[in-house]
Amino acid sequence: MKKYDLLVIGGGSGGVATANRAASYGAKVALFEEKKMGGTCVNVGCVPKKIMWSAASLQHSLEDSINYGFNTQFNSLDWMQLKSNRDAYISKLNSGYEKGLTGNGVSLIRSHASFVENNIIEEDGGLYTADHLVIAVGGRPIIPDLKGSNLGIDSDSFFDLSECPKKIAIVGGGYIAVEIGGLLKSLGSEVTLIIRRKTILTNFDKMLSENLMSQMKADGIEILDENKVCSLEHQSNGNIKIWLDNKTSINNFTNLMWAIGRRPNTDRLNISKTSLKIREDGTIPTNKYQETNVKGLYALGDIIKKVELTPVAIAAGRRLADRLFGGETNSHLEYENVPSIVFSHPPVGTVGLTEKEAVEKFGISDVRIYESTFTPMYYAFSEKKKSSSMKLVVKGEDEKIVGIHLIGVGSDEMLQGFAVALKMGATKKHFDNTVALHPTASEELVTMKKAREAQNIY
Ligand SMILES: Cc1cc2nc3c(=O)[nH]c(=O)nc-3n(C[C@H](O)[C@H](O)[C@H](O)COP(=O)(O)OP(=O)(O)OC[C@H]3O[C@@H](n4cnc5c(N)ncnc54)[C@H](O)[C@@H]3O)c2cc1C
Repeated sequence: MKKYDLLVIGGGSGGVATANRAASYGAKVALFEEKKMGGTCVNVGCVPKKIMWSAASLQHSLEDSINYGFNTQFNSLDWMQLKSNRDAYISKLNSGYEKGLTGNGVSLIRSHASFVENNIIEEDGGLYTADHLVIAVGGRPIIPDLKGSNLGIDSDSFFDLSECPKKIAIVGGGYIAVEIGGLLKSLGSEVTLIIRRKTILTNFDKMLSENLMSQMKADGIEILDENKVCSLEHQSNGNIKIWLDNKTSINNFTNLMWAIGRRPNTDRLNISKTSLKIREDGTIPTNKYQETNVKGLYALGDIIKKVELTPVAIAAGRRLADRLFGGETNSHLEYENVPSIVFSHPPVGTVGLTEKEAVEKFGISDVRIYESTFTPMYYAFSEKKKSSSMKLVVKGEDEKIVGIHLIGVGSDEMLQGFAVALKMGATKKHFDNTVALHPTASEELVTMKKAREAQNIY
């Protein structure tokens, strides 16, 4: 049996970060990865998605350039060129990750790992053990168990498409559905979003979900709300017919994409050979130190179902390694006030509490709201204008900022610095005392004047 200081299952955002940081302290580390290096984010998540979003943003810029007097010619998008450039970029990242790990002295084992006992892992007949073992296996998209459901693709296979879908239905109202729906619309697809509830992005502040929904509709995306897909069938012309739960059907979709959530990869780990407790849905509960119920067994990243974002998985892994091998005995990640972005058109940024959460937490009389809606100067000459909206949620006499919610061009790049301010405990007065940057959209965030009472309308 091979003995290490640390074994890591999963070469995605969390696993790679943990292994590299531990190795930097001199720990003897082995990492198991059965697919491409870098995991979801690099191969079928953040990276290819952001490239597609940037392509869609370029399309918007081309359209807007006419308003500025450019004699812009619209030729078609060469989807396959975009795809092959994207794939080549990702291949470089894959080998960069591999080189980074091996350069740091991490033993990279490119195959499936599963448990034999609490602290023993098997891979292709080989046995490995360590005092510390990290599970960072992430998840995979859910395809529902419905008649014809395999006629649909998921977000992984979306990135394999060799042409832009002509007419696509996307099932789901979370950020992946909204992002892919938005970028496909910009790149030329006819898009229908089928959502179970009344709105999209239901965990976000209502201002954001309502605002984005109406801007998506204005862009020509059809949104079928309070609808469920019951089954799919092939039409004689090769297209897809979708049966909805109200017994009606919609026809002639060239593609359908399921974006109804992700399932954890614990089902292929032989967990039953261990005494590890997992939740009913397969995710793994941990304490703030990423410790599971089994001594020496840790879990982090998407698999713990806390905040499913790449920088969160990375930060949790690095802090764990700092604690186990770097002598930082209390090192752990705080999961509160994590900023996040939705790469929609326009993008959405959010950090802290929504208005609803703040009212629930502090009481309605202790919460006030500052808001602003405006048209960015970029759209000065445009017929098709996209509005921006911003909301500050403040608490108490000193008006501590507890939530910042943005939608509009530039929100994606604007939020990071404001998230630092919120994390540091900034008050509205600090914002007021900061001189504005002009002319920008972000200046609106430091020039808001009149607060309204919080509302209990949710
Ligand atoms: C479409 C999409 C877009 C996204 N966009 C963003 C974004 O813009 N920003 C953001 O922050 N996050 C984004 N995310 C989320 C982000 O990708 C995840 O939060 C992040 O990848 C989680 O990292 P992880 O280490 O927990 O798991 P993963 O990155 O999923 O890595 C897990 C790895 O474990 C491997 N593995 C699993 N089981 C085994 C086994 N038994 N043996 C060996 N290897 C195994 C898998 O092959 C995989 O490589 C997106 C996700 C998706 C799906």
